[in-house]
Amino acid sequence: MAQPKAKQATAETIVVHSPIDGSVVDEVPVFTQERVDAEIVLAHEAQRAWAALPPKERGRRLKKWRDLVLDDADALAELVTLENGKTRTESVLAEVATFAQVVTYFGRRSHKILKPRSITLFSAPHRTSYVHYVPRGVIGIIAPWNFPVAIAMGEAAMALLAGNAAVVKPSEITPLSALWCKKKFDEAGLDPNLLRIVTGYGETGSALLQGDVQMICFTGSVATGRKIAAACGERLIPCIVELGGKAPFIVCQDADLDRAARAAVFGAFFNSGQVCASTERVYVHREVAEGFTTRVIELTRKLRQGDPRKFDVDIGAITFDRQIEVAREQIDDAVSKGATVATGGEAHQPVEGGSFFQPTVLTGVTQDMKVAREETFGPLLPILVVDSEEEALQLANDSHLGLMGYVFTRDIAKGKRYAEQLEIGTVMVNDVLSSYAFPEAPWMGVKQSGLGKVHSADGLRDLCQERHVNLPKWWLPSTRKDPHWHPHSRKLYDLALRALRLLKRL
Ligand code: NAD
Repeated sequence: MAQPKAKQATAETIVVHSPIDGSVVDEVPVFTQERVDAEIVLAHEAQRAWAALPPKERGRRLKKWRDLVLDDADALAELVTLENGKTRTESVLAEVATFAQVVTYFGRRSHKILKPRSITLFSAPHRTSYVHYVPRGVIGIIAPWNFPVAIAMGEAAMALLAGNAAVVKPSEITPLSALWCKKKFDEAGLDPNLLRIVTGYGETGSALLQGDVQMICFTGSVATGRKIAAACGERLIPCIVELGGKAPFIVCQDADLDRAARAAVFGAFFNSGQVCASTERVYVHREVAEGFTTRVIELTRKLRQGDPRKFDVDIGAITFDRQIEVAREQIDDAVSKGATVATGGEAHQPVEGGSFFQPTVLTGVTQDMKVAREETFGPLLPILVVDSEEEALQLANDSHLGLMGYVFTRDIAKGKRYAEQLEIGTVMVNDVLSSYAFPEAPWMGVKQSGLGKVHSADGLRDLCQERHVNLPKWWLPSTRKDPHWHPHSRKLYDLALRALRLLKRL
């Protein structure tokens, strides 16, 4: 139960405040390098036995964890809402459901996905090759505050299903949901050392990647992602960095305007816009701009913002106060350059002591404004009018980020064509946000939105070392040496040249 705001963080503890009313929810310790290292040692010890289990068995055991989480999903949703400020429905739909889907899908399929892959050798038909997948060891997961379960625990589940142990550093803003899930993990009878949680600030994340981990999966800002990638490069360990987004939302002339408007509003304001895949800039064709914009404003004004613990609320709190400053800065910049606040535009307190920002629609926005160029990560929906769909594509690609994008059109073939022209990791046609909830599909950014991928069969394989074995197809005891081994001679040289020229026939 939340207590009144009083406690302050110290070097040893983090005090977790609820963004709903500023009250103290709990406190957690700050892990030092020494403590992080000790956790990694425990994880290594547990990992050896875990890696020796067949993937099917690992899946079976993790499903017990999932079941305990699902049995108590209401309590988890309540806690996520309390520490993160999203609505309870969002907590269930985006957090619990994503985690459960990841465990279910990979729990059932990891044995197939991680099966050795054979390779036909065109240049050595007498030999054969295969690649097999070996767990890496201990994977460090550094997570953001916007989806404390879906990201932190979803990635931990994938790392475990690939045969690794996981040490997770949740965000200092929302560490409690991961600790709750860890309790369920231990109750499920899994070795508690397989999944370790180290709470703390950025320094604890840094300690994790300096420790004896074999890979880092990081999700967060571009600025931190650069530091992580550089540090992993120095250590020569692989990393996945999932970073910011500035998703363009293209409304073509032939779009179903009602669906497009509803999707733009849902995509912009879900989780108070604190989603890397949020609708961050709309490009609407001039011919349909008026109808679309009127509908967007109408729908936005109908949204109910308030205490996210109540069920009849659509928009909750702003998790991290800094996002309110970003929203303000971007609105001021846009208005000073000629944009209009069509609705919203203010921070307010539907719950005393809470952090809330009204869902805001900006019209008359142009590409030079900060709100069209920099990540907002808050509830702003800027609308830019374009004269052609080609212009929309060109402006959509005029960004340093490329995580998600959306195209709305009745012509699916055109949607596909546009999707392929966008410099973006995932493009959805006539839909928004939901692709992170498809564990089968890859989630990744291009440009400065990241390196590597999570989810998908390839994403699971990336959590393993790929090792190659090459062997003869049959045993020929009389073959003492291959023709190209020593001694070398003019005859061998000519033979090699003649053989190479045969390639020209192919
Ligand atoms: P952040 O980069 O501030 O922090 C992310 C995590 O990194 C936190 O746990 C933090 O403590 C840790 N950290 C900070 N400095 C560190 C350092 N030097 N070494 C190691 N760890 C360090 O990001 P945030 O504010 O928590 O999250 C918001 C950002 O995350 C947004 O830009 C958003 O777009 C992005 N995000 C991306 C995705 C995606 O899938 N691409 C998903 C969610 C959020």
